[in-house]
Amino acid sequence: MRARRARGRGVDGATGMSRALIVVDVQRDFCEGGTLAASDTRSLLAPLQSFIAEARDAGVKIVFTQDWHPANHSSFARNGGPWPVHCVAGTRGAELMPPIEAGAGDLEIRKGQEVDAAGYSGFENTGLRAQLQELNVEAVAVCGVATEYCVRATALDAKQAGLQVAVLTDLIRPVSAAATVPTLLELAGLGIAPAVSQSWL
Ligand SMILES: [Zn+2]
Repeated sequence: MRARRARGRGVDGATGMSRALIVVDVQRDFCEGGTLAASDTRSLLAPLQSFIAEARDAGVKIVFTQDWHPANHSSFARNGGPWPVHCVAGTRGAELMPPIEAGAGDLEIRKGQEVDAAGYSGFENTGLRAQLQELNVEAVAVCGVATEYCVRATALDAKQAGLQVAVLTDLIRPVSAAATVPTLLELAGLGIAPAVSQSWL
């Protein structure tokens, strides 16, 4: 049985402000065993799953982004790009990594669908900004993978969109472990606060 919090609907009664949790690219290909795995994703999945459930119960809008590339995507090494083939639309590698799964009221955002768009950010050609505006979302927390690529790009675009942005330091994983601190420092310098998940909620 799920405990429901009195806080309700994630809306601050005084301001009408809503919040969203953006879970970036927690997909099979980006997790251990995948073609482009971030580091140490095994330790991420269980705490992320329980945090998503808690946030959902508190009325926070849950947003899942997924890389969703055409097979001829420009970011793939075979097409001259920097990355191995990953997250091709409709393949197993592009699925959310179990036990992470989207619920009925969650938003699912597929990005990187055009051959030449990098698609690092969940806001790039996805309509996410408009959807959040429609929901009166003013504050977001960003988590998922990979810290120095899609988490970073999504957080930067969220800030650019005028949202209050936090990056959840316990629920992100980098491709390169050395990239975490410089990325968090860069984001903090731009007004994107590092936060521990429980303190954000
Ligand atoms: Zn990609």
